[in-house]
Amino acid sequence: MSGALPEAGTPWEALADQLAEARNQDADWRGGRVPLYVHFAGDDVLEVAKRAYEMYFSENGLGPRAFKSLARMEREVVDIGLALMRAPAGACGAMTTGGTESIFLAVKAAREYRVSVRGGLRGTPRLVVPRSAHPAFDKAAFFMGIDVVRTPLMNDFRADPDAIAAAIDENTIMVVASAPAFPHGVVDPVTEIAGNAARHGVWCHVDACVGGYFAPFAAQLGVALPAWDLSVPGVCTISADLHKYGYTAKGASTLFFRDEATFSKMGWAFDDWPRGRYFTNTLVGTRPGGAIAAAWAVLRYLGASGYRRIAQRVLDTRRALQAGVVRQGFQVFGDPPLSIISYGGDTYDLEGITGELEARGWLVARTQQPNGFHHMLNLSHEPVIGQYLDDLESAIIGARSSTAQPPRAGSASY
Ligand SMILES: *Cc1c(COP(=O)(O)O)cnc(C)c1O
Repeated sequence: MSGALPEAGTPWEALADQLAEARNQDADWRGGRVPLYVHFAGDDVLEVAKRAYEMYFSENGLGPRAFKSLARMEREVVDIGLALMRAPAGACGAMTTGGTESIFLAVKAAREYRVSVRGGLRGTPRLVVPRSAHPAFDKAAFFMGIDVVRTPLMNDFRADPDAIAAAIDENTIMVVASAPAFPHGVVDPVTEIAGNAARHGVWCHVDACVGGYFAPFAAQLGVALPAWDLSVPGVCTISADLHKYGYTAKGASTLFFRDEATFSKMGWAFDDWPRGRYFTNTLVGTRPGGAIAAAWAVLRYLGASGYRRIAQRVLDTRRALQAGVVRQGFQVFGDPPLSIISYGGDTYDLEGITGELEARGWLVARTQQPNGFHHMLNLSHEPVIGQYLDDLESAIIGARSSTAQPPRAGSASY
């Protein structure tokens, strides 16, 4: 499959065979071998998402005037999300195409809101984020000409509210907390971080890209979590990805705002060109209607009870993995309450173990601070945790006995 566009077309049957064949080179997510990227919640859920997506395959979220159905579905998805985030009356939100886009737009809104209520900034605007915050904040800041300060974590790997408060200066437009943070899966002390931000008159964003559609159900199942949602005073925006633990089609996230005044800074309008007024709430223009329809359908298909059932199984999977690695002498980083876990140990040759695991067909994800292994779990992992732990044990032994294999630097990071 290389070179210029072939002159002659190819029948679909042949292409379907080629696509299926191409997939053989990929890591086996269905077999639970991929520790991130895919959030599987069962074949029935996948089928609902696919069928809904296909029904709205050609429709475009850019055109709510033409596609009133999509506009209504988006409103209903946002309302469900706002209720899950325990939003106060008057809170607003919108769908985006992913966590990165939600974060971009939160940063954009925070800057604009700050300028609108407090006048211009004297220097370069600045974000203060914990070390564990997702790179999307730095990506957004890079694109928008904003500085980022990353503050140290506490010993339990949660963000340190005092370090964040101390880093706030006159140009700080936003502070960030994660629920949970991706590297260690721990939930930051949002109440303290948001409270400090409010005292400084600074916008607080909670990145719940991972936890937004998982943590509420885990809490209903009795998992003890610090408050992190829109019920916390000082929290201005929350990003929550539907295409992670909402189990919807990829290309779907949500961004929620405390009130209409902050929400009004999300969008962007322009009319100085021949075609007339152009307005979007999103960074992208054209948006897949399928991703909106699939999100609407999967939320309704599962209902709260369905999400709770799946959350229970994911939590049990994380606990089984956690107990297993602790039995093998690894140290779990912090006290991860949800679906992400990372662990390591100074006495282990993690590079060697990585090589051994990869030779056994596992895609290995690593953390670098501390040096360790990383898993974001879903139902594809449920049946293979025992197999993984057996292979991990063999990998430890294999790494000890293989002196021939030199340590491999910096493999498999994200
Ligand atoms: C996945 C993730 C993001 C970015 O989301 P994308 O959908 O990959 O753009 C942001 N923050 C956290 C905590 C995430 O896990």
